[in-house]
This record gives sequence, C-alpha cells and structure tokens, in this order.
Amino acid sequence: MTIDVAILGATGMVGQRFVQLLANHPTFRVAELCASERSVGKRYEDAAPWRLSGDNPMPDAVVGPCDPGAVRSPVVFSALDSATALIVEPAFRDAGRAVLTNASPFRMAAGVPLLIPEVNPEHAEWVRGKAGFIVANPNCTHQAMTIALAPLHRRWGVEAVCVASYQAVSGAGYPGESAWDMLGNVHPHAGDEEEKVASEPQKILDAPDLRISARCVRVPVADGHLVAVQAKLRVDPGPDAIREALASFVGPYALHSSPRPLIHLLSQRDRPTPKLDADRGGGMAVSIARVERCEVFTVKFFALAHNAIRGAAGGALANAELLVAKGILALGVA
Ligand code: NAP
Repeated sequence: MTIDVAILGATGMVGQRFVQLLANHPTFRVAELCASERSVGKRYEDAAPWRLSGDNPMPDAVVGPCDPGAVRSPVVFSALDSATALIVEPAFRDAGRAVLTNASPFRMAAGVPLLIPEVNPEHAEWVRGKAGFIVANPNCTHQAMTIALAPLHRRWGVEAVCVASYQAVSGAGYPGESAWDMLGNVHPHAGDEEEKVASEPQKILDAPDLRISARCVRVPVADGHLVAVQAKLRVDPGPDAIREALASFVGPYALHSSPRPLIHLLSQRDRPTPKLDADRGGGMAVSIARVERCEVFTVKFFALAHNAIRGAAGGALANAELLVAKGILALGVA
C-alpha cells in the first residue's frame, strides 16, 4: 500500500534529492515529476543532468507541468523557488492536494504547520480533516539549532540565542553562487536568511518571547550547514545536564526518515565538520560538539545538519511520514 506523489521543481537541487530519497520508499511512490516550461516534455535526465552521487533512479520519466489540472497525485512535494511557490502551491492546495513544501512563502502563515516531526508533531493537527493543505518545513540554516534547542527549551526554557552560520553552496540551489564568488572566499549572506533564522524557531518551539540574533555566511563547502550557537537559558543546569538532554532527545514517532539517535554528540574538539558529519543518519541526524559554558550567555555549542536532506527534501519527507503515522494522510490513495 503506497501513496502516489508528484515532485514540483523536480529538476532543481532539492528536487533531485526528493527523487533520490523517494526511490524505494516504503510509503510513497513517485508518480510524477514536474518543473518549469523549460523542462516540460523532456526526459528527466535531459531536462536536468543528475548532480548527486549514485545513478538517477528515473532518467526516462517525462517531466510535466506544475499544474494541478495535469497532476493526479494526491500528495505533492514542492521544491519550487519562492516566487513560483507563492502562486503554484495554493493552486494545488485549493485543488484538494496535500502540499509539503520547502519554500518559504507560507511558513509563517496562520494554520500552516512549520514542522520538524521530532520537535512539534502536534502542529500537524492543524491540517487534520482538511481536503487540501500546505505543510512547510523550516529554513535549512536553523534546523540543527532548533532541534538542539527543543529539549533545552522544554526542560529549562530558552530566553535568547546568538547564532552564526557557515553555509554550504548547495543551499543556494543550482547553479547557485558563481565559482568566482565562492572559490577561496566566504561572504555574508545577501538575502533574507538572517530574518528567517531569527523568526521561524519561535513558531516551531511555541516560544513567542524567544529572542534570536543571527548572522549568516556562505562558505565554499558542498553540503552541510554548520552553526555556532550561544543560548541563554532561564536556569543554568550546567553543560553535563545539557549534553545528556541533547544525546537522549528523539521524536515521539518512529518514522522511516527519522534516525535514532537523532543527535550525535561528538567528543572531538574539531568537530562537527561538513565533510565528516553531514551524512550522519542518512543526512537526517544533527551533529553537535563543544557543548560548553558560555562566558556571556548560558551555553555554547556547534551544530551541523545536511541542508538539502534534513534541511529540505528529507525534512519534507519525514513530515509526510508523520502525517501518515498520525492518520492525517491515508495509505492506499493513488
Ligand atoms: P533550484 O535548484 O533553483 O530549483 C528550482 C526548481 O524550480 C527547478 O526544478 C525549476 O525547474 C523549478 N522552477 C523554476 N521556475 C519555475 C516555474 N516558473 N514553474 C515551475 N517550476 C519552476 O532550487 P533548490 O535549491 O532546489 O530550492 C528549491 C526550494 O527549496 C527553494 O524554495 C529553496 O529556498 C528551498 N530550500 C532549498 C534548500 C537547499 O539546500 N538547496 C534548503 C531548504 C530549502 P526548471 O529546471 O525547469 O527551471
């Protein structure tokens, strides 16, 4: 018993990750690949040469349009750019489809769950019983941080956070940043990444008073966003108790795409690194190290997650698995 899905934006960086992660998935079957007019009618491999490791699992699929009238799957995973998502995703929602999106336009909209399935699965209830709906996953940069803050906020309360990111180039999509800008260089993020990092965790953690100051920087790394976090807690339990809370944190649902352990607490002082740690847990785990007393706030640590898997396609897939586990999406729908 599987559920047919369509991938909107299947030719992009995140779209290819969806295709990769959904190959042989126990619950979802990729029935349709969709992209822009530039790609419609072409073989998938011809529309977008495969850029990930391993083989393209569906090279001969024919790309279709991102049009709810032409797509029959009840569930759509969206890897569309923001401007396109703003128009296309509501059209699919209004046509009665479940839309699981990576794009930002509806993340902060009332009634749209901004979901990390291990952190706030109860927010999925907002779409129970709706014919069509949008469920968003958060910005990729703060996912490692927000997952780490979740058990700390529950036990002791988090008041304020300062965070600096070291972000991979795949986070900008394909072709993304130019080689001239990135080779031998780092540069402050020119877009609205800092605003997203500073505002989305409050919705996820039900923490409206949490203050976050973010600085985001692109670095010449392929995959994996590293963040340096300083957090102020309401009480200071000490680094040992914080390490224990992080290492034991898992979500309440056993999901195919949610690894256990969820957080890998590393003892080496020079970790985590994108090269060695981004692929932990199939790219869905969070790697954390250097959990130490902060001289200004309460605690500081480094955290890393794979931006295109945990931070994008894998996160949306885990959200869909949560909807199935909760009975919000029904198996056997084709
Ligand atoms: P990307 O590589 O630029 O891919 C964009 C996709 O959108 C392509 O498949 C493209 O199809 C399609 N598209 C563009 N204009 C379209 C139109 N007018 N109609 C239909 N389809 C259109 O971007 P990405 O990095 O995969 O990111 C996709 C989304 O995920 C973005 O909203 C991004 O912010 C978000 N996100 C990305 C990451 C990451 O790590 N990359 C992480 C989290 C969230 P064509 O090939 O036919 O042009």
